[in-house]
Amino acid sequence: MNKRARAATILRRLRREYPLKGEFVRWSTPLELVIGVVLSAQCTDKKVNEVTRPLFKKYRTARAYARANIRTLEREVHSTGFYRSKARYLKGIGKLLDEKFKGKVPRTLDELLLLPGVSYKSAHLIMAKAFNTPTGIAVDTHVLRVAPRLGLTKHHTPEKIGAELEKLYKSKDFLDVNEHFIMHGRAICKPKPLCGSCVLQDVCPSAKKFLRTGKKRT
Ligand code: SF4
Repeated sequence: MNKRARAATILRRLRREYPLKGEFVRWSTPLELVIGVVLSAQCTDKKVNEVTRPLFKKYRTARAYARANIRTLEREVHSTGFYRSKARYLKGIGKLLDEKFKGKVPRTLDELLLLPGVSYKSAHLIMAKAFNTPTGIAVDTHVLRVAPRLGLTKHHTPEKIGAELEKLYKSKDFLDVNEHFIMHGRAICKPKPLCGSCVLQDVCPSAKKFLRTGKKRT
């Protein structure tokens, strides 16, 4: 099986193994998506949706967030956790959008990354969902560990791994690759991998090595 076919098999099996729950932060404008995604850090989408329902009614523009009272905003986002940082991010996003982007969410990855609280993963997600423009695969610590083990790349830096994965997968699958590699990295392909319980064992070039040696890290 060539690498591209193996990559497809891997994603197909991971999708089966870790079905996405279908819940996602609710939004109807790019601004609402940005706010929802920032609030979703370390928080469930369900909780974010509870919090954003009144929030989106109250703050309808970037300027409204820019002018928000920080203590009030902290109270309003309190139950999503990390409320002080998140309130600061929301106000900062409002300010930057209002001052630099005429109140609109920008449509490029580099500009999205200027927004406080917006990570690479969030920026890729916003580009794909709000503007229907998949821009890439975010490589976090799990993807960084799992992709080389699966023999999908020989590289070990996030930039190079991301670029190689983006050649192997269709752009419509970019968000799913990130999501499923992370779920697999958390559940099975941990720093000390559980290869004996892995659905990818037969397509993973590292499985034998780990099973034979019990080696802990790549
Ligand atoms: S077989 Fe082992 S190393 Fe390969 S993906 Fe599964 S857990 Fe990770």
